Amino acid sequence: MTDFSRRVEQVSISGIREVFEAAGEDAINLGLGQPDFPTPEHARQAAIEAIRAGDADGYTSNKGTRELREAISAKHARDNDLDVDPEDVIATAGGSEALHLALEAHVDAGEEVIFPDPGFVSYDALTRLADGTPRPVPLREDLTLDPETVEEAITDDTAAFVVNSPANPTGAAQSPADMREFARIADEHDVLCITDEVYEHIVFEGEHRSPLEFSEEGNVVLINACSKTYSMTGWRLGWVTGPTDRIERMLRVHQYIQACASAPAQYAAEAALSGPQDAVGEMVTAFQRRRDVLLDGFDDMGLTYPTPKGAFYAMPKVPDGWVEEVLDRGVVVVPGDAFGQHGEGYARISYATGIEELKDAIEIMDDATRAIR
Ligand code: PLP
Repeated sequence: MTDFSRRVEQVSISGIREVFEAAGEDAINLGLGQPDFPTPEHARQAAIEAIRAGDADGYTSNKGTRELREAISAKHARDNDLDVDPEDVIATAGGSEALHLALEAHVDAGEEVIFPDPGFVSYDALTRLADGTPRPVPLREDLTLDPETVEEAITDDTAAFVVNSPANPTGAAQSPADMREFARIADEHDVLCITDEVYEHIVFEGEHRSPLEFSEEGNVVLINACSKTYSMTGWRLGWVTGPTDRIERMLRVHQYIQACASAPAQYAAEAALSGPQDAVGEMVTAFQRRRDVLLDGFDDMGLTYPTPKGAFYAMPKVPDGWVEEVLDRGVVVVPGDAFGQHGEGYARISYATGIEELKDAIEIMDDATRAIR
């Protein structure tokens, strides 16, 4: 009998998949974590041209093409007022690989990683795969992560904490003051802050700032991706940036598990990052309109929720049996406890779906809510 590793036996296939599989074929899917918009045409064309010219046939440098890393550096100057050396960037297979590199390079066996609960499912799983110990912490009433909660959870065994703003699954966004606090905590306690900013551009209220901007001691690494911003989830292109010595350690992992990010995707990403940004604004406007329609629907249903300020998720409190009732009636939503124990009593509803479908789903959710009240 094959003996599986202890690490892999500690993780299971995400609960979100199970919900999808339980739903009928005609179900309206409000469970998806990807934008329903096309990848911008100029990004697609850049990949096609690179393939036709034979430029994307071989390995690139382990860190990614110089041109892509320069485009990422220019993006950080433009959007974050950050001076990023292209040498301090690794292009990765999505934000997922970047998270994996950060944990693999910084967590020793048994060391603790603090992350939001409810939070993105990979934080727990990737911590376990790095042989670390997950330390999920509860959120404020508005579903943001309180820097004080993080600071209190730090022990001598803490290797890192994860900040995610705007957040999956809550749609919550951290204030600039919180982001500054996270940088201070990382510096003062000498623990790593991993800031997951894949939803950076999908914000409706407030200003997105990065803890990396406020970091003074080199204890912050930033993760981002083209996946959500440019509707490029299938391309698998993200990146990590941070202090040179940390990038060098993460490169050791990346070199052996990935060699380099997919070359055609690197060409597409370079074009997406440096070309016209109109598609991003149009997508955000559409998401905001859908969010407002959804929140009006929750009001009519009598559901309470913190107003989501970004990403494309809402997380209302729902009565017992609500998720199952909604699913039975043909709308897929994800139970909050799929994202951690403190998600219990909530549901994650993605509005990365067309407005007409969303309106149909709201009617069905409304009927389901009445039926179980
Ligand atoms: N971080 C968060 C918060 C996410 O929601 C996701 C994807 O859903 C990722 C990272 C990973 O994104 P990618 O598709 O770029 O690997």
